[in-house]
Amino acid sequence: MAETRLIAGLRSVPLSAQTPYLPQQTRRNFILATGAALLSQRAFAVAASTVLPRASSVPGGVARVGLGAAEQAPVARFGEHRVLVQREDAKWFAFVGIPLAEKAGTKLRLLVQRPGGSVETLEFRVGAKTYASQHLKVPPDKVELSKEDLARYEREHARLAQVLATFTDSASMPLAMSQPVPGSRSSSFGLRRYFNGRPRSPHSGMDIAAPTGATVVAAMGGRVLDTGDYFFSGRTVILDHGRGLLSLYAHLSEIDAQAQQLLAAGGPIGKVGATGRVTGPHLHFSVYLNAVPVDPALFLPPEPAAR
Ligand code: ZN
Repeated sequence: MAETRLIAGLRSVPLSAQTPYLPQQTRRNFILATGAALLSQRAFAVAASTVLPRASSVPGGVARVGLGAAEQAPVARFGEHRVLVQREDAKWFAFVGIPLAEKAGTKLRLLVQRPGGSVETLEFRVGAKTYASQHLKVPPDKVELSKEDLARYEREHARLAQVLATFTDSASMPLAMSQPVPGSRSSSFGLRRYFNGRPRSPHSGMDIAAPTGATVVAAMGGRVLDTGDYFFSGRTVILDHGRGLLSLYAHLSEIDAQAQQLLAAGGPIGKVGATGRVTGPHLHFSVYLNAVPVDPALFLPPEPAAR
């Protein structure tokens, strides 16, 4: 029988709780996102300082939902997608990618199937996060795609949606990533862009400033899921890290990895470039969880202070 339990009453997380070096607020965020009863004091100390991804139950964030203790992993589903389930000590946690389009205050439902067969619904609430907007006036012929380009884009969009929905079973392992190329990070994930007043898809990743030819490496160990040359993202590599956690590297000048290849963290995958629809060389880096783009910064250690 389905049982409904309210896991979190997360109403509003201050923006500062999304940033590193604020253990007090990160800690509050963890309490709200997972329920204080589910975390021991010891787990707190670890969670607040070093554990990645940083939980953040907001649009474009990652909710960490406690699933309790069990020998075997429960199976969790969010919408039509399976969700990453991770063991920490004796307990299981689901890491759920929250779509950017979700509204603050919405109750989301996680369907959890226990190894014994019982199914329950866990609810968690989406907190508030405001992303910046950018309004651009551009000549219409610069934004309207030709018939051919539109057909190509639609083909590629369908293919990418299928690739990005990949779920491969794998064992629990640390989910921390490292920055795939040195350079300063944009905080433009989630930026809402309007061209001549019409909304475009929000920015699905982080842009890292780096020169053409700089080596791009795998942010964590994984398997090369897809390589291609796409209309918007140019030469692109997608890595599968298991359990619906994927990373994507776009606008490469050169791809140095092959589909199905296994890569260790730090293994080279290509070179920075400006392929696809961009104005200059940089790396576009995206992270997907249960087919949803989430803020890559949540998976990375804090950016080193600029010198
Ligand atoms: Zn980008």
